[in-house]
This record gives sequence, C-alpha cells and structure tokens, in this order.
Amino acid sequence: MLTRRRALLAGAAAVGAAGTAVALGTVPAREPVRPPAPGPRPHRAVQPSAYRLRPLTGYGPPGAAPARTPVRREPLLHVPAPGRTMVLTFDDGPDPRYTPGILDTLARYDVRAMFFVCGEMAENNRDLLARMADEGHVVGNHTWSHPLLTRLGRRRIRREMERTSEIVDRAYGEPPRWFRAPYGAWNRAAFQLGAELGMEPLAWTVDTLDWTEPGTRTIVDRVEDGAAPGVVVLSHDAGGDRSQSVRALRSYLPGLLDSGYHLTVPRRGPA
Ligand SMILES: [Zn+2]
Repeated sequence: MLTRRRALLAGAAAVGAAGTAVALGTVPAREPVRPPAPGPRPHRAVQPSAYRLRPLTGYGPPGAAPARTPVRREPLLHVPAPGRTMVLTFDDGPDPRYTPGILDTLARYDVRAMFFVCGEMAENNRDLLARMADEGHVVGNHTWSHPLLTRLGRRRIRREMERTSEIVDRAYGEPPRWFRAPYGAWNRAAFQLGAELGMEPLAWTVDTLDWTEPGTRTIVDRVEDGAAPGVVVLSHDAGGDRSQSVRALRSYLPGLLDSGYHLTVPRRGPA
C-alpha cells in the first residue's frame, strides 16, 4: 500500500507541476464554519443563452469563464492540496432513491463533495440540485444522456454538454465549472468544448467500481486502501442499485475523518 501511495503522490506532484489552476479549500472536514462559497444562493433566473458557446469575438460578458479555461490534453486525476486532503465524487445522478442518503451522510459529518450529474437525471430532480447548492456541494457536468463521447460527432458532444450546463445553471444556481466524460472516455472535442464552456476536466484517482455491486465492504476497502493526499474518489449515486454505495459512505467517511483526512471540494482559481 505504501508503494501505491507513493505512486499516487508522485502523480499528484506531476499534476501540480503542470500548473493546474485548481486548489482545494482548506476548511477542515469537521470545522463547523461553512466555506465562504458556494453556500446558499438564490435560484436566479438567467438568460437561457448566458453560457452557451459563442464565436471567439471577444465580446463575451465581463468575467465570462470560457476565455480563461485552458484546453487540456488529459483530465486532472488528482487535486493537489496541502495536507491530508481528499475529494469524494458521485456520478450519474441525481437519483431520488440514493442521492438523498448520500447527502444526509455528508451533512451529518459536515463534508462537501462533488456530484457529476447527467442532465436527463437533473431535469426531473431539480430539488436535489438545489439541495446540493444549499449544502455547499460542487455540481459538475457529466453530459445529458451519458453517451460514449468518442463515438459522437462534435455537434452531438456540444449539445450533450450545453444542455447539461443549462439545466445545472437553472437548478443549482450557476453553471458547472467541472466536466467529467462518461466512462472516462475523453477526446479532443470534449476537452475543447469543455474549456469553451468554462469547465475543467476532472477524472479520478481511486475507482471504487461500486457500479459492479461488489459488496459494501469491498467498496469501503477500496476507498480506505486508496486513501492518500490529493486523491479523487469515484463512486455513483445513480445508474443502477446504488444502496451499497450509500451504505459504504456511511462506513468509510467517519473512518477517513478519524484518520485525519479532510474531505473537501476543489475551488477553481484564476488561470
Ligand atoms: Zn458516469
């Protein structure tokens, strides 16, 4: 395990050396003070086209994110930060059968996480996105219908990403600033379009393979064995029976906190 952790740390250092613009919040996991952002926010009405792709004319609104987001060639695999910090991510939701249980556990331990949502799931569960916003979680874009992007043309990819950013903006209160390709299958168009929409690509370090329903204990073991500074953990709150994922979080989250880990979410800084 030590060897594995060293490898993870080496990887994290490499990402840091690449000049990534991400940083982790340093709010301790059990710190009662809420992080300054995102926090509760009004569910404002926005122009439907506020974050749509624009021609590169330089006439975007002041502070528009797209011009500042780099086009990467690989997704980020870790989130470097000082100390024993990790990020928990949950994909494919929200699902009213499982997402509330995950949110309840995170709230119980005052921990923030990332949810890479699919637009078609978010559309019918806007209340869950609003809850994520209210409780300080970060919502990322995981496409509309979870296709294999490498088999789609550029127009379809763009549509998948744009529609999802739109529904997230409406339900969560702001457009997503993170993107994760379904199945971890990235291509050049996904990196380019994601950057144009102001999103950084985030993959993961530790895959719990929870979607195979390997048993709650196995999921817990995979998280605990993979725990190391900068690690991003992949789990799922939708796409099948995720009751094992919900139960596993209840077990490994207090364990990680007892081991001195801070579970937090990345904050995008200026590029
Ligand atoms: Zn997925």
